[in-house]
Amino acid sequence: MMDGKYTGTTMNINVSWHLEHPMPQNPTFDQKVEWHLEHQKNCACRPISKKLADEMAAKGIKFEPAQLLNEVKP
Ligand SMILES: [Zn+2]
Repeated sequence: MMDGKYTGTTMNINVSWHLEHPMPQNPTFDQKVEWHLEHQKNCACRPISKKLADEMAAKGIKFEPAQLLNEVKP
């Protein structure tokens, strides 16, 4: 049995990457974008939020739509 230890069977979390790349406390838009772009290359625990994705698109920042909330299809 799992004695309270999170095994991450349903989520693909790259724990070591997260430990090395904590999100800044009060991230600016640029910091968030930078973090998420690196994040999605290294970890799949969560997608870029729709809100941030919209802001990124508005500024012409490229990202992998596949990593988006699954609601965006070509
Ligand atoms: Zn992650």
